[in-house]
Amino acid sequence: MISPENCKVREFAPGSPERKSVEAEIEHQRLNPRDIDPVINGKRIQMDHRTRIFEPHAHARTLGTFGSAGAREAQLAVDAANAARREWGNLPASARRAVFIRAANLLEGPFNDRLMAATMLGQSKTFYQAEIDASAELVDFLRLNVAFSERLEEWQPSSEGSERNRLELRPLDGFVFAASPFNFTAIAGNLCLAPALMGNTVVWKPSERSMLSAAFIMDLFEAAGLPPGVINMLPTSDPAAVGDVVLADRHLAGVHFTGSTGTFDHIWRTVGKNISAYAAYPRLVGETGGKDFIFAHASADVDALVTALIRGAFDYQGQKCSAASRAYIPRSLFKEVCERLHAEVSKIRYGDVTDGTNFMGAVIDERSFDQCSNFLAYADKTSGHKLIAGAAPDRGEGYFVPPTVIACESATSKLMTDEIFGPILALYAYEDADIEQALEIVDSSTPYALTGAIFASDPAVIDRLSKRLRFAAGNFYINDKPTGAVVGRQPFGGSRRSGTNDKAGSPYNLMRWASPRTVKEQF
Ligand code: GLU
Repeated sequence: MISPENCKVREFAPGSPERKSVEAEIEHQRLNPRDIDPVINGKRIQMDHRTRIFEPHAHARTLGTFGSAGAREAQLAVDAANAARREWGNLPASARRAVFIRAANLLEGPFNDRLMAATMLGQSKTFYQAEIDASAELVDFLRLNVAFSERLEEWQPSSEGSERNRLELRPLDGFVFAASPFNFTAIAGNLCLAPALMGNTVVWKPSERSMLSAAFIMDLFEAAGLPPGVINMLPTSDPAAVGDVVLADRHLAGVHFTGSTGTFDHIWRTVGKNISAYAAYPRLVGETGGKDFIFAHASADVDALVTALIRGAFDYQGQKCSAASRAYIPRSLFKEVCERLHAEVSKIRYGDVTDGTNFMGAVIDERSFDQCSNFLAYADKTSGHKLIAGAAPDRGEGYFVPPTVIACESATSKLMTDEIFGPILALYAYEDADIEQALEIVDSSTPYALTGAIFASDPAVIDRLSKRLRFAAGNFYINDKPTGAVVGRQPFGGSRRSGTNDKAGSPYNLMRWASPRTVKEQF
């Protein structure tokens, strides 16, 4: 069996055919606002209560509306998923794979511009950020998961004498609840497709902050021939109303979640409360918060370090669970690193993502803007914080938070310990002689363990740091930024309060959606 290669990332140079084609679709989506509604058993249910969808970098521009599902629609979606699951689960695995291969082909064809434009407009991603997410990463999730699912069937138990043993990869005995975040279109797609590929039906609650791209993902699955009821989409501005119904159903068999630690805690508690009502123990798979670090050793290559700090902290406005958010720099390099960051971060352009000249867009909405502003106001008012680069946030036309670097005198400043989810990088200078103490701080000053990076040139040091920080990150990068995991190359996920570490983009994740049956046949 030949593994598919990762999707090639294109350049989108000004005037290139791929750029012009996405620009035309951007125009089309701007001129044709879309009204999105719940999709249950293949049917759109038109809702009265509607929420406006806007462009974060130009919030007066309306992209459409979504109709909010409540408890009633949640129940209908659960019923549809339960009704569809036997037929879908009993199909040969090859028939299910064919649906997702068709989806990958469509996403490399007519759907590419639609998903990219919706991700740029609705989530404020640049051409490059939209390309690596809605295009390349989602194609990779589709194609590579199909290949992984084939490979999982290859291993079979041994047999002796007149017995014949086999392992059947059945779906779970129930439906899966997928709850997706706003920050990656690819993650939203994958949270649905991984369980569905393994034969499960899905009730999907997309983030209310990225509904435009979610609607196009649903279109994509339908156009690929996904049968009605296999994935049921519930847009909602009242997630609790939907969650309560879905998590209470007797046939809830799994949760596939990416989002905040607090919400995952709530899901876990609710499942615990309902535990004796379920037909089977639900599988809980979650990727949650992060406070991801870059740790530099005195032997670090400063050019590579500065590039990683900037790309790691500010790509997509720092709205990645993996974003570099706290950095530990030895005193011997600190002045130089601060000077370089001041010079380079001050040059970063941000603004409307569709003009192609800005490196950054806006943060997703007012709530996010306020959260970032509060951290900046705290740093401004509290002693022990020095602004290295940055300017005042401005919500005039869009929710713009300029890229900001703040040096913290204390390693326990909340800028160094709390998840911010915005373009704010906190720095701490450690004394070169106190490296052990600094490593202890990296390891223990936050509850998270998602991603982290070390910079050093001495192999013995790299080995020592890697061992010392073994449990501090599920994705550990040596001399590179801690973001930008590629499906199949850097399986993604963290432990501690960052999630269950079931490695998105790997066979381990798919196994969570299978309930194997061992069969022994005697001849
Ligand atoms: N997989 C992404 C990365 O490596 C981050 C995913 C997330 O933000 O949840 O940057």
